[in-house]
Amino acid sequence: MSTTTSSSILQQTFGYDTFRPLQREVIENVLARRDTLAVMPTGGGKSLCYQIPSLLFEGLTVVISPLISLMKDQVEQLRAFGVPSLFLNSTLSPQAYQENMEYVRNGEVKLLYVAPETLLTGRILSLLDSVQVDCITIDEAHCISEWGHDFRPEYRQLVEVRKRFPNAVCLALTATATSRVRQDIRATLKFATTNEFVASFNRENLYIEVLPKRDAYTQTVELLERYKDQSGIIYCFSRRQVDELAAYLKMRGYSALPYHAGLEDAERKRNQEAFIRDDTQIIVATIAFGMGINKPNVRFVIHFDLPKSIESYYQEIGRAGRDGLPAHCTLLYSYSDVAKINYFIDQKDGNGKRVAIQHLDAIVRYAEDERTCRRKPLLNYFGESYEADTCSNCDNCTSAPTPLTDITIYAQKFLSCVKRADEKFGAGHIADILLGSKNEKVLRWGHDKLSTYNIGTELTKKQWMHIARQLLSMGYLKQEGEYHTLSLTARALESLRKREPVFGVVQEAERVRVKGKKKEEVEYNSALFAILRQKRKDMADEAGVPPYVVFSDRTLVEMAAYYPQSSESLLKISGVGQAKLRQYGDAFLEVIRNYCEKHGLEERALTPSPSPKGRGESELSPRTRIIAEAFNEGATIQELMERHGIVASTILDHLTKYILAGNKLSNGKGLQSLTSATPEQQGAAFAAFDELSPTYLKPVFDKLNGMLNYDDLKILRMMYLIARQEQPHH
Ligand code: ADP
Ligand code: ZN
Repeated sequence: MSTTTSSSILQQTFGYDTFRPLQREVIENVLARRDTLAVMPTGGGKSLCYQIPSLLFEGLTVVISPLISLMKDQVEQLRAFGVPSLFLNSTLSPQAYQENMEYVRNGEVKLLYVAPETLLTGRILSLLDSVQVDCITIDEAHCISEWGHDFRPEYRQLVEVRKRFPNAVCLALTATATSRVRQDIRATLKFATTNEFVASFNRENLYIEVLPKRDAYTQTVELLERYKDQSGIIYCFSRRQVDELAAYLKMRGYSALPYHAGLEDAERKRNQEAFIRDDTQIIVATIAFGMGINKPNVRFVIHFDLPKSIESYYQEIGRAGRDGLPAHCTLLYSYSDVAKINYFIDQKDGNGKRVAIQHLDAIVRYAEDERTCRRKPLLNYFGESYEADTCSNCDNCTSAPTPLTDITIYAQKFLSCVKRADEKFGAGHIADILLGSKNEKVLRWGHDKLSTYNIGTELTKKQWMHIARQLLSMGYLKQEGEYHTLSLTARALESLRKREPVFGVVQEAERVRVKGKKKEEVEYNSALFAILRQKRKDMADEAGVPPYVVFSDRTLVEMAAYYPQSSESLLKISGVGQAKLRQYGDAFLEVIRNYCEKHGLEERALTPSPSPKGRGESELSPRTRIIAEAFNEGATIQELMERHGIVASTILDHLTKYILAGNKLSNGKGLQSLTSATPEQQGAAFAAFDELSPTYLKPVFDKLNGMLNYDDLKILRMMYLIARQEQPHH
């Protein structure tokens, strides 16, 4: 028998072929008995970081978690993988509790989940004294920190527990930790900095978009049409909105249930359970929903209303796509939602109010930005910088931006009006002055006498407010205090003096953005997938567990793509380990064999996907191949744009990926006509690519002092790459 390693457990027990980023590092560090802090985003795969070591340690691994409702779920999933595990918490009957303690005492368990308050009881501590504890895992470790949003006093006492088991290695895990919180966790638990692992918070599989909210009900229904039969969450601002929307969707024939703190406990629990078990497709919820669920196959999250901060937004969209498959996140944004939240903020006072205003400003800026890749501000918020030019998986990266126009005149009018009103007012009042309003406040302050009074009637108030927000985000204005008072920055004064041009966007009265992207087609047989899904549901109901405990969506997708006909082939499918093969293998093989027989299909070769760089980094998506192959067959960029409903720069991104991955691309017609670069500029760009490599555009952009914009550079890079492949030694 070969020696057991973390990789062999990953494959044989869990049926996965590669580690997710940092899993291997964290696991090895724990196995080397070094206390470890690991920060990974939701869906990053934190659980395996202690589950795999628990199977390699001789003794017990204790997992401390505040989320009692998740323990049962976790233990069910582990048992399906054949890992002996248990939980002890207040939801157990006294008898079950007693039995579980007995199992632990007899060493029949590898993993024990407990709530912190349970752990701190004398009875459990002395139980643990009687066995060998090899690892103590602290889940949701940010609860230790007073700086965290979720501080729990009993978490501090865990330090004492650690001292009681000096031979146990300690692993602290969290998905939300600023550097201050991390530092606090390390200091409290006395961990060395060198044993900290922070994974990227970029969730590549999430498509992120913001749509202008017009008729939100219709828009929601349109979105749901894209996600037929798939699980998703719709977040609303208020309980009333939740009830109304859930009722509306039900009336339209959707399988939707509400979830919020105003429902009775029993109903809330029932609705959550129905969602987890795929008995209901959609949950309409306030932000209260999601903490206690672990459902990996949430395929979409819709924000019906604006979230109150970037942090909560990130957390909420993070509940989509934990299984790593593509998932969609849509935010419906309208400025009137901001007013609604402002109203609630106004009820607060002091520091809380100031912080809330900052949070709101940040999310508004995010929602209104139509240019920057969505991932940049999101990741920046967590102190991470996102370097790529484009992610190809957000609305701003996959659609043509609204062109910038010269808004110098508007900027000058607005800024000088702020100045003339002595920098003591907010944007609404300034707009009123510009529009020549005769409202009480304008008259009381004598602002109808200002030279800027009534000089801005060419725009509506809404448009002026939008101009104001752009001036804020461009750094011409700053906003302070509880009345959002505006004043000019040094930059504004300078710009006014020099009469510098200002570029921005004038909002159209009714703006229609044609955005949207068809989801990445995973090539699998959807008819077979539907049958497998039903089989999964039947088996799960029979066993009284959620469907994803039986198999994940990814596992079913792979089955429907490769048609495995034997146990050996089935084992190569992601998520099929020894225990699941024994338990469910025959049943699913039968379904697949029947289907294939009926449709004359055969098994397709399946080699475990070797992607050492992590999730699909080096792999080309089917879409990239489809586009590149069509291009090679003579399709023009224009035709490809129309065929796929995406903009030229996205087509170029696909083609560039294709050629950079070492594939050949034929000399496409019409590339030259897409760029306005002169022959000299083109020569300079080619020389820069020679010198600096064509992989990244930023250095080339800088080298050329911004002479060519990124759109041109992308086209020139394409031409360069094609030319170079034709003459290997340019
Ligand atoms: P987290 O706790 O960080 O939110 P989980 O541990 O719940 O994430 O993992 C999310 C999902 O990803 C689970 O369904 C898990 O089984 C799956 N998963 C974890 N690691 C891997 C891996 N290396 N390969 C494939 N799937 C994985
Ligand atoms: Zn992007």
